[in-house]
Amino acid sequence: MSFSHDVKNELCQVRPASCCKYAECYGMLLFGRSFQKGDISFLTASKDVATRLAELIKSCFDITVTVSEGGVKKPTYLISITDDVVIKRILIKYDRYGTNAFMGINYEFLKKECCIEAFLRGVFLSCGSVCDPEKSFHAEFAIKNSALSGDFFTILTERGLSPRYTERQGKSVIYFKNGADIEDLLTAIGATMHSLEIMNVQILKDIRNKTNRIKNCDNGNISRNIEASLLQCAAIEKLKKADKLSTLSPELYEVAVLRLEHPNHSLSELCKLMGNKITRSGMNHRIKKLLELAER
Ligand SMILES: [Zn+2]
Repeated sequence: MSFSHDVKNELCQVRPASCCKYAECYGMLLFGRSFQKGDISFLTASKDVATRLAELIKSCFDITVTVSEGGVKKPTYLISITDDVVIKRILIKYDRYGTNAFMGINYEFLKKECCIEAFLRGVFLSCGSVCDPEKSFHAEFAIKNSALSGDFFTILTERGLSPRYTERQGKSVIYFKNGADIEDLLTAIGATMHSLEIMNVQILKDIRNKTNRIKNCDNGNISRNIEASLLQCAAIEKLKKADKLSTLSPELYEVAVLRLEHPNHSLSELCKLMGNKITRSGMNHRIKKLLELAER
């Protein structure tokens, strides 16, 4: 099962307060397949989600709807209300009936914080999805009715979230790429367990990034050491070709030969090979001297 599917299952376990039921039911219907005169229908790939909506409709309107199973490759679950009397009752409740019906989001049901969260949960159950955080941080709402997307975008930003917007296959897509935003969203709508999972992945990714940065930094040091060593070897080779090695003091000669024999060694390692009879800074001093001589 996908991460998204699991999140929806967790959301279906949330027990909404009685004030929140209308808001959640509204979110599901409004962002569902069809919510207008002649047809109220809701299609989902999750049996739990379909059952959830059927229960909400029963509890809010005392209307029993059936969930019919379909789908060829993957199962789908459909709730379809075609009885005009029933449709009218639901639409009137949400002020979407009549010629002057309000077609945006009706804030009448979103007055309390708990109800806004319930509404968001409904919308997520209807058209939301979220990626497995191990793969990528991505959550989105794919909205068929573009007239709703502006209002919905505002509701999200008013909560301090930073949604982004794009269009895909005729749908308005409001999405999040930020782990912290996805975490906040899931917490708000009641998927606290999965929100924690996202938080954990974020912490792990953070640690991994830091470790990588340190590793890269180490690699940087190593390549700088090798670069320096190559320059030193080139300088000593130059002295050798000019037949100057024999003119060096015994201390410098010893270091020059050692460096040529061990081009991959750090200065400290060269000191060790000399039995630590000189310090690293002493070694550095002698190498500098060799570089100077080669320059001349
Ligand atoms: Zn409420």
